[in-house]
Amino acid sequence: MKAICGIDVGGTAVKIGIFDLDMNLLEKYQIKTTENIFKDVSESLKNKDYEIVSYGVGVPGPVVDNVVDCPNANLKNVNVKVELEKYVKNNNIFVGNDANMAALAEAKCGAGKGLKSSATITIGTGIGCGIVVDGKILNGDFGAGGEVGHIKVTDEGQCGCGNIGCLETTCAAKGIAHIASKSARLKGLSVKEIVDLAREGDEEAFALVDKVCYYLAYAASIIACVTNPSAIIFGGGISNGGAIIIDNIQKHFDKIAFRNVKNTKILKATAGNDAGIIGAAYLTQC
Ligand SMILES: [Zn+2]
Repeated sequence: MKAICGIDVGGTAVKIGIFDLDMNLLEKYQIKTTENIFKDVSESLKNKDYEIVSYGVGVPGPVVDNVVDCPNANLKNVNVKVELEKYVKNNNIFVGNDANMAALAEAKCGAGKGLKSSATITIGTGIGCGIVVDGKILNGDFGAGGEVGHIKVTDEGQCGCGNIGCLETTCAAKGIAHIASKSARLKGLSVKEIVDLAREGDEEAFALVDKVCYYLAYAASIIACVTNPSAIIFGGGISNGGAIIIDNIQKHFDKIAFRNVKNTKILKATAGNDAGIIGAAYLTQC
């Protein structure tokens, strides 16, 4: 049976999804991330009864001409297409960064389905973002198009990128913990605990949540001015708090965004945990 393979390379695991040509998920599984990622992927597919016609690969870092440099996932300046092709003997291979894969999954079959343009901000250890315009990922000339996690929003907090006050240093878990550390009551609480308190009406917790939502809305207002998408979609991290977060980002967005881009809707991501493999599979169709 002809099939498409979507591969999502992470620091500890490589997720693999097999899709039919209509993009229905047939099977998914994961293997450990080792020194030999592409050999392992190829081996894992050998006893399966598929004729894989194309491969999409999502990796955790910017991709330029199929090359990624991400030591955390055993990818040190690696040409992913060349390496995978060695083992699978097929050169129909497409490579993109994982934030863009999540964005493509949302655009094709998640919260952005049916929209011409959308952006997806994924909050995890850091903040990744992908922008899809007319069904295509906006990569930029250096592979970092849509990297809004590194928009500067404050004057404090050293980011892993070397800059100060990036969106991801402020609104991912570590940043929220830093803001919470200034309060004797909220210090040491998880993001979920703080959001739960805010939902129950705790004013101090709500003020913190409101601040984080403001920064996320600020980043959204910049994306809106640049690509004017129908929706900006949030997934992971504090956005898992649901309506209290999404509605609050929308509230701030409506206040600060340029009037001609105010039609943009703030939505919660719906593609779920398989977004990485789904987006990678769709990359083969772009
Ligand atoms: Zn940064």
